[in-house]
Amino acid sequence: MRTVDLIQKKRDGGELSSAEIRYLIHDYSNGNIPDYQMSAFTMAVYFQGMNARETAELTMAMAESGDQFDLSPIVGIKVDKHSTGGVGDTTTLVLAPLVAAAGVPVVKMSGRGLGHTGGTIDKLEAIEGFRVELDQQTFFEQVNRCGVGVISQTGNITPADKKLYALRDVTATVESIPLIASSIMSKKIAAGADAIVLDVKTGAGAFMKTMDDSIELARAMVAIGTQVGRETIAIISSMDQPLGFAIGNSLEVKEAIDTLRGQGPDDLKELCLVLGSYMLLLSKKVNSYQAAREQLIQLIDNGQALHKFKQLVEAQHGRTDIIEQPELLPCATHCVIVSSDHNGWITSIEAEVIGRVAMMLGAGRETKDSTIDLSAGVVLKKKVGDPVTVGEALLELHYNDNHSSKREAAIHQAKSAFSFEDVLVDSPQLIYAVITKDGVTQWNQ
Ligand code: URA
Ligand code: CA
Repeated sequence: MRTVDLIQKKRDGGELSSAEIRYLIHDYSNGNIPDYQMSAFTMAVYFQGMNARETAELTMAMAESGDQFDLSPIVGIKVDKHSTGGVGDTTTLVLAPLVAAAGVPVVKMSGRGLGHTGGTIDKLEAIEGFRVELDQQTFFEQVNRCGVGVISQTGNITPADKKLYALRDVTATVESIPLIASSIMSKKIAAGADAIVLDVKTGAGAFMKTMDDSIELARAMVAIGTQVGRETIAIISSMDQPLGFAIGNSLEVKEAIDTLRGQGPDDLKELCLVLGSYMLLLSKKVNSYQAAREQLIQLIDNGQALHKFKQLVEAQHGRTDIIEQPELLPCATHCVIVSSDHNGWITSIEAEVIGRVAMMLGAGRETKDSTIDLSAGVVLKKKVGDPVTVGEALLELHYNDNHSSKREAAIHQAKSAFSFEDVLVDSPQLIYAVITKDGVTQWNQ
């Protein structure tokens, strides 16, 4: 097989065979195909696309390029959840114990934050003592015993995707639906999930800026899951503002605890109920969305979801007194309130800008090797649709490094994230659509 022939075939709109796709991924991974040829190939895919079969085969070739987890020692249907990337997205911290409290085993391998998006593993490390690295046997035993475990993604998962993603990043070929869909799904499949719930973010702060693109990406991922025997459901949710109020590691742990207590922000709670209900449905524990939702609400109301969170923290050696006393979590020495220069209604809060502000305050990593300040971050005091008057608080900045020019830069950026109107605006829709193998359903709130 000659790489140049395959590039040409795709360039001219041809369809690649399974053997051809496997050859490209295998030989690119082991260094036999140089970056310049793979760049040309990804650009050909960018323009010509891939059909559902090609995309599924690309996904499996990448999933098989490294370690694959066998979760069969864990009893039950393992449902994983993935978000395409948000700011202040505290859902995993809420969903893992909530869904586990309903009797569905939750086996979560999560990552750290990079750039303006956060990572679940950093958030959990805000809990003193919490161990994010467990050997596989200990981890599986824990999930069988208490129904939930969250660890840092270790080992050599999808090295082909890692290499290809780095190449796409510098060759303007990230925004290709078959390439994004196969990249995300290869990691979920290698992580061993039986079924997958996807939260595809849409809007200014997301990868996919338009509804049509978001739905197309969701359909592509659902099609891959269906083709390879892992039932997959996707929802499309808004990233027109950060999720909840808190952005930053320690602050989000507190927000998750509030939400598990039934006192969290409405949008975070609602998104967790929707994603959690689909996780229950895929686990076959319930037979209707409504029944799943009612069960989850009950588990929050009767304290069992919060209790499961405590069991999780305890099992992974974290201090559990932070649950009753979240003020024991790392707390920044400085807090400044940023207030509004406008009267009117808030029409948008750019999630990416708020994510950058949190990063400037120390909550995020500029590069993979930066250290982060677990106590730093942002707490929104207003959300889209809220009225505001001059001098009222928009948000709080929490930080330790009280350098005045840094602080002023953060305040300036934070203000720039907000847009205002003089007339009443509607609160934005949170969930837009659900995509299953049977098609797309618009969401009625
Ligand atoms: N996230 C991924 O993991 N891969 C992509 O290609 C895009 C987003
Ligand atoms: Ca949040």
